[in-house]
Amino acid sequence: MRTSLAKAAAAAAGTVSFEPMDAGTPEEHWLRELSAWPVWLPPQAPLVVVSPHPDDEVLAVGGLIHSWATAGHPVTVVSVTDGEAAFPQWQGLDLLRREELKGALRKLCLTHVSVIRLGLPDGKVGQHMNRLRNGLLTTLAPGATVFAPYEHDGHPDHDAVGAVCCGLAQSHGIAVARYPVWTWHHSNPVVLKGLRGVRFMLSTEARRAKARAVQCFASQLQPPQADPIVPRHVLAHFERPYEAFLL
Ligand SMILES: [Zn+2]
Repeated sequence: MRTSLAKAAAAAAGTVSFEPMDAGTPEEHWLRELSAWPVWLPPQAPLVVVSPHPDDEVLAVGGLIHSWATAGHPVTVVSVTDGEAAFPQWQGLDLLRREELKGALRKLCLTHVSVIRLGLPDGKVGQHMNRLRNGLLTTLAPGATVFAPYEHDGHPDHDAVGAVCCGLAQSHGIAVARYPVWTWHHSNPVVLKGLRGVRFMLSTEARRAKARAVQCFASQLQPPQADPIVPRHVLAHFERPYEAFLL
C-alpha cells in the first residue's frame, strides 16, 4: 500500500506527503459525501485490477472482485510491485507479500483469480513507465474494465500506475475506473468535487469475504516491532458497505 520511502519520494515527485499513523480524515466525513454518489455496476465483462502493491487491490476493489469472480466473470489482478520497500530491512518481505496476496485472493473467492506479477521495484514505478505500459498492454482483455489507482492518490507508485492506465484508456479506448486508497486518509471530500464518483454496493457475503481477505495482509496490519502501514483508522475507509470509484 505504502512504503517508508514514500514520503521522500513524494517530496521529490512533487506529490503530497502523509503518514499512515497521522489521524487523517475521519471516515464519517467521507460517508456523508459518498452517500450522494450514485450506485453503479461495471459492464458485465472481464475485470483487470491494476495494483501498485499487494493489498491495494483487496482494500479498494476486493468486494467487487468477489462479486465478479463468483458470478463467473474473468478477473485478473496485475500486481505491479511486490511491496518490498514497506520495510526495507525486512529480508524476504517481497516473497511474504506475494504469499499474502495469494492467501487473500483465496479468501476472497473460491473461483480462480489470475495474478500477473510485473515485478517492478517498489517505490520506483515512475522510473519504469515503459515496462509498466508494455506489461499492461499484454494483459488487457478486449472489452475489459480496468480498475486503476486514482492518478492523484498521493503515493508516487499509485500516481504513476494511475497515470499510465488513464493514458492507455485514452489511447486504446479502454474503460477505466479509478480507485482512491490514500486519498481517503490524507485528503478531504472537497478535493473530489467535480469528479464523477460512483458506488458499487457490496452484498453481505462480499463484505464478509473482503474482511477475511484483508486480514491476510499481516505484514501491513501488524508488522513486528513497527507501526502498521495500515492502522485501524486507515482500515476504516475500506469497511464501507460499498466501494467507491471515479469514472
Ligand atoms: Zn499501495
